[in-house]
Amino acid sequence: MTEINKSPEFYHQKNFGYKTFKNTQKEIIENVLAGNDSVVLMPTGGGKSMCFQLPACMMNGLTIVISPLISLMKDQVEALKTNGIEAEFLNSSLSAEAEMQINQKLSQNKIKLLYISPERLFSSKLIDQLHLYNVSLIAIDEAHCITGWGHDFRPEYSQLNVLKQNYPNIPVIALTATADRAVREDIVEVLGLKNASTFISSFDRPNLSLTVLPAQQRLKKIIEIISKYPDQSGIIYCSSRKQTETVATKLNEAGFDTACYHAGLDQLVRNKVQEDFINGQVKIICATLAFGMGIDKSDVRFVLHYNLPKNLEGYYQEIGRAGRDGLPAETVLFYGYGDVATQMYFIDQISDLHYRKIQEDKLRRIQEYAEAQICRRKVLLAYFSEHAPNDCGNCDVCQNPPKYAVGTTEAKMALSAIARTNEDAGMTTIIDILRGNAVAGVIEHGFDKIKTFGVGRNISASNWAMYLQQFIQQGIIEIDYRHRNKLKLNAASVKVLTGQFEVQLVSFETIKKRNEALKQKRKEKVLFTDPDDELFEKLRILRKTLAEKAGKPPFTVFSDVTLKQMAEAKPTNILSLLDVSGVGEHKAKIYGEVFLNEIAAFQLKRNKKPSKPGDTHQVTLALYRQNKPVSEIAKERQLSEGTIYSHLLDIFTNEHEAIDVFSFVSPSEMEKIREARITLQQTVQLKPYYEFFNGEIDYNKLRFALVYLDREKQETITI
Ligand code: ADP
Ligand code: ZN
Repeated sequence: MTEINKSPEFYHQKNFGYKTFKNTQKEIIENVLAGNDSVVLMPTGGGKSMCFQLPACMMNGLTIVISPLISLMKDQVEALKTNGIEAEFLNSSLSAEAEMQINQKLSQNKIKLLYISPERLFSSKLIDQLHLYNVSLIAIDEAHCITGWGHDFRPEYSQLNVLKQNYPNIPVIALTATADRAVREDIVEVLGLKNASTFISSFDRPNLSLTVLPAQQRLKKIIEIISKYPDQSGIIYCSSRKQTETVATKLNEAGFDTACYHAGLDQLVRNKVQEDFINGQVKIICATLAFGMGIDKSDVRFVLHYNLPKNLEGYYQEIGRAGRDGLPAETVLFYGYGDVATQMYFIDQISDLHYRKIQEDKLRRIQEYAEAQICRRKVLLAYFSEHAPNDCGNCDVCQNPPKYAVGTTEAKMALSAIARTNEDAGMTTIIDILRGNAVAGVIEHGFDKIKTFGVGRNISASNWAMYLQQFIQQGIIEIDYRHRNKLKLNAASVKVLTGQFEVQLVSFETIKKRNEALKQKRKEKVLFTDPDDELFEKLRILRKTLAEKAGKPPFTVFSDVTLKQMAEAKPTNILSLLDVSGVGEHKAKIYGEVFLNEIAAFQLKRNKKPSKPGDTHQVTLALYRQNKPVSEIAKERQLSEGTIYSHLLDIFTNEHEAIDVFSFVSPSEMEKIREARITLQQTVQLKPYYEFFNGEIDYNKLRFALVYLDREKQETITI
């Protein structure tokens, strides 16, 4: 059935420019190529698409990809085409003419991958004609849509059982980012897969930082966070349509390019917003949960949750949309009891008792996550039945682990305040009482007359909020979500009040340190400081221009990861460009030259740029002027010879006349290097020269000679 000449590695490199497989990709691809059925569970960004795209390139016939999302199809097809792979899609967005052309290509066997929506598959004749098109593989993306267990059931998906019934010999690969066992079992059953191998990858996404912040002053905090990401993309999830609009308006007023997205907007508007976001025309989206399912954008740098989501499944999917390219991305959840009460309210409307109980439990679990005083990633992964042996180091708790102190006195103050309000006050009022704030809500009820009024004025309101939150978590205070979040006492409260029980608190110091760390983190505005990053930004701009010209999303040209590596490696010719991960042969052909030119221009400018050599350079220069050899200068200055060389090279680069290059390189060596430069196609990398001369001309000489020759060339150009 299949004709395979070369290894998967060969095609992986040639078509996609990747050298190593991610996760369980290799095993999956081998299983598919062997003609077996596969079920693939991999987190978002794990690299699911490759599991069918690579076999599709290697197999003789056509691969059908069933995908529920029109926008996703379009992007994937675009990305494949940019890699020189024949791919098309069929869905309701196509004109009759375009569809006819695709059908024609199909009958000429000119398509390797055909993306199709399940509706279209069943409404067209295609479902009865798969045998005519030599179909070698069927991939079912977002396979959790098959089952009611998942969060996104689609009725058309459940008809896909027809595939195995009618075409039992065509291998099927079903893929999802949902980690649930029930979902997995349903996929196998509904599709009628026989002897399917299931591949489960770790759901950990170590590049996502996890932070939970109190819900006070959210907007201010959001602005601080997003200021760190100028010109980068991010999503802010809100729980209501109105809130998306309010937040978007506020952010726009603050100068951030923001759009909002929710189910109440016209479909056309929604499509436009989504497209603008994917193409990088709009940077920030304030969205309800309707947004994101169809977004295959790899460079989302932050996902913030303005409100507490309903459950951890949804939350994990949403934050999963950040950092799909594997580069660091930030996620922040704002947590407050107001949101818990809202969620409770909705849960109370559920009439099915069993279902209501499940939702309550799920809410409880996400609260546990938000309140965790142990590594948050551990809590999150445990929810998906995955044990993380080590603390992650990339969550706010890991970065500032709690220190405990005795907090019985504080607990007693709070408990007695609650008792004296007859359990008729919420958290804000209790804090006002403790701090002695005679605000209207306090005076109205005569709470300013009670004995505890003002006993805790030495503790700030935000610290009181943190303490009360901890008392609630420890179960010594109850919160009545159904009655305006009023604080209540219970049996444990009595034990504390009567001195039978000592209360432990995450210490003041920890809280203070955490707050400071977060503030500091929010202040770190400059993400890109080193010159490679400057080049990275330049390459991003070039990518955007090229993508705009071609009318496709920038990441289909090259991903951020690829551009980052390019900026680091600074390839000078097509061969070294092909070494960069993500540059396949086709892309190298169409984009190679422009990117190489951009890199060369950057290098040239950088070498010219006068940096100001500091005092230390001047000391070295003074000694050099006394005709001292480098070894002696190094000794005298107690620095390494390498450092002295780098001082002299900096000075030479900036001020040619200050250094006599021929005191380092002999004229005959210079001539040899000049010739080598032509042979090595003017590469600015040192290693090729070093190897060219079999190590006989050392790196320091090469450095001086290349700066000299480069200057010579520029001078010729200017003349
Ligand atoms: P998923 O569908 O699982 O969310 P994708 O298929 O979109 O993930 O892949 C996520 C990112 O990883 C994409 O940018 C893709 O190009 C990249 N990728 C996939 N496979 C590899 C690989 N073997 N090496 C490097 N990058 C890869
Ligand atoms: Zn952690």
